[in-house]
Amino acid sequence: MKSRATKGQDRALQQRARRLQRGLEKLYPDAHCALNYETPLQLLVATILSAQCTDVRVNLVTPALFARYPDARAFADADIGELEKAIQSTGFFRNKARNIQACCKILVEKHGGEAPRTMEELFPLPGIGRKTANVILGNAYGVPGITVDTHLSRLSKRMGLTKQSDPVKIERDLMEIIPEKDWTMFSHRMIFHGRQVCFARKPNCEGCLLAKDCPKVGVAGPTGGEELTASPSGGAGRRKLVLRTQPSKKQRPRNV
Ligand code: SF4
Repeated sequence: MKSRATKGQDRALQQRARRLQRGLEKLYPDAHCALNYETPLQLLVATILSAQCTDVRVNLVTPALFARYPDARAFADADIGELEKAIQSTGFFRNKARNIQACCKILVEKHGGEAPRTMEELFPLPGIGRKTANVILGNAYGVPGITVDTHLSRLSKRMGLTKQSDPVKIERDLMEIIPEKDWTMFSHRMIFHGRQVCFARKPNCEGCLLAKDCPKVGVAGPTGGEELTASPSGGAGRRKLVLRTQPSKKQRPRNV
């Protein structure tokens, strides 16, 4: 049983998390999934492609890809060499092509060619991890989920919302302090803030409208070297988007 002091700390953390959440809502009212898709299956394929690759790059590849392979059956029956070629520029294309094909074969055999609607069914699919599953559930099916990517992980720690490094534990911590109905949008907004203000190397704390509620855990020295002043309208002042860089050849995409 928790002591009164611990309960008080939990309450204070929850209140601060809500203030941060409200701040994020004002900053990024229109935050959204950055991947382009029209169907849950397309989102599933796009999220597999987005491992170790920028969303911008994935969005360049998917229009032709989805025209060439319009459904799960088409991906399942694809010539693997052709599929690899179609997604080559997203990196690790052999691994991704294998995962997409294996995943789509299972979708055809067990799920009527559709992306499933539950974590239990999505998680075991090739190329799909908890993060990807939450992206699909939250954006394609409206099932709330916290998507722990590199931005959300970094920001949650700096904001003192978790001390964990393991994505599953971070997800669990955030689920306790953010209302369930807000999980998906909270994730998008944190990712927007990570891309536009709370940069990995030099967070722009001086220009950050969340600074009064952020303990800046692990942020050392003067900050503010990168170019953006966020505005409450959800846009940004001077902006320098920092996109995820291509990974080194040694890295391998895992289920995400
Ligand atoms: S105050 Fe600094 S560390 Fe905290 S969210 Fe803003 S940019 Fe990130």
